[in-house]
Amino acid sequence: MDPVFRFNRTAGWSVGQSLISVSQVSLWQARCPSTDREALEGHVSADIAIVGGGLDGLALALHLAESGRAPVLLEADTLCAGASSASAGIVAPQLVRNLPNQVARKLGQAPAERFLRMLADAGRYCFALISDRNGGCDAMANGFLAPSSGAAGRAQAAAAIEQWRPFRTDLALLDAEAVAALTGTRRYSSALLDPTGGALNPVAYGQFIAREAERLGAAIHTGSPVRTIERHNGRWRVTTAGGSIEARTVVLCANGGNRLLNRELRSTILPLEVCQVATQPLSAAQRAAILPQGHALTDTEANVFSIRFDVDGRLITAHPMSRDLLSPEYLHRVINDRLAASLPAYEPVPLEFAWSGTAWLNSSLLPRAVRLEDDLFALQACNGRGIALSGVIGREFGRWLASDRREACALPIEPPKPIRGYFIARNAPKLIMKTSLAAQRLRRALGGDQSHA
Ligand SMILES: Cc1cc2nc3c(=O)[nH]c(=O)nc-3n(C[C@H](O)[C@H](O)[C@H](O)COP(=O)(O)OP(=O)(O)OC[C@H]3O[C@@H](n4cnc5c(N)ncnc54)[C@H](O)[C@@H]3O)c2cc1C
Repeated sequence: MDPVFRFNRTAGWSVGQSLISVSQVSLWQARCPSTDREALEGHVSADIAIVGGGLDGLALALHLAESGRAPVLLEADTLCAGASSASAGIVAPQLVRNLPNQVARKLGQAPAERFLRMLADAGRYCFALISDRNGGCDAMANGFLAPSSGAAGRAQAAAAIEQWRPFRTDLALLDAEAVAALTGTRRYSSALLDPTGGALNPVAYGQFIAREAERLGAAIHTGSPVRTIERHNGRWRVTTAGGSIEARTVVLCANGGNRLLNRELRSTILPLEVCQVATQPLSAAQRAAILPQGHALTDTEANVFSIRFDVDGRLITAHPMSRDLLSPEYLHRVINDRLAASLPAYEPVPLEFAWSGTAWLNSSLLPRAVRLEDDLFALQACNGRGIALSGVIGREFGRWLASDRREACALPIEPPKPIRGYFIARNAPKLIMKTSLAAQRLRRALGGDQSHA
């Protein structure tokens, strides 16, 4: 029998007695109760201040602390309250819609090589960071699949593997039979397999990094929204309601919040709101048929389909967010129809968690540090693929900040790059996803498409 869904504007969706919420409590937050730190009180002095305690800010804090430059980090809410806790937790060490040759065109040959070498290490580094320190984090290092349908998709995957070869030789191109065996669907004709990817609980990962950073001397304050960042006596003054930090260097890691803290960043990122859903744990028979070896999957189609399991066998999938999804009956039908259309072994089950979040995309879809002024930087590393990358970005940018010489950094450091036609473009990511989903539903209704609705 279908569960009873209710949506309450302040509390979120509810199913029977158990509450599921939109934007506020994801599966990961439910599994990892928040571990608040003290809010900033009074005036402190620091070498480096970080604004934002998502995966990027925390990873940077850890690596600065490891380099002997223990920073002070201010988080407005709880740790990982933003995109990090809203994510699917897929460790996908691959760029969104950028192949290595495109990166070289955008960055130039030598910077691109440094950047791609850093990226090539992202998945391995993420899981090693956890396992070397017994971090747990429900880490599942079983590999990441990026499947596609049609000859063009296969050619793209083959090109990606070829272009990555100078930096890594472990990527594999799978044919239709191999993809079907690893996914449980015959919808795809090929896939790129990245053996260094997988999945984890992103909130557990953030909390683990925070503990490590603190152990090495970083100070972390939650419940401390930053209000202003101003020049004061040749240093930066970062002010919250309860106190302030004077620092030589400030790094904004507030993701979408960055644009509210600095005018120059306002039109440099576009929002893409995404709904994530976790089903109740699937039966053993379904689990044996869908992603039987525990891979995580995000396909390369325009109306992106992604699935992974959590450690308890819940299937987690994404859908572009829209007001319609606030109707629990609609959400239930849309998600279950899409899963059933893609995965023959899937039988509709109640949804246990639903939440939403905003992925922020920059103009190149490549992670970068933005240099705003002397010793004032902002990280733009989301682009919907930030989990695997956060560790290596924190390591490389942290080393660069900590070094006195500040030579070439593997993470591109660029001036603010406003997006042309921002007020029209800001709806583009949502429209592209929605149009592509609608087109696919129509094709399916007309009998010409067997893929996900
Ligand atoms: C729905 C969704 C699904 C995703 N799924 C995946 C996935 O499966 N795999 C993947 O690799 N990537 C995924 N991503 C992208 C990934 O989540 C992000 O790249 C990553 O979490 C970004 O981390 P961050 O630290 O930059 O930002 P955030 O996690 O957003 O952290 C920013 C922090 O700054 C804080 N903040 C904001 N303003 C202020 C202020 N004024 N003062 C102090 N603090 C402030 C916020 O509270 C927040 O905690 C997904 C994103 C979304 C939205």
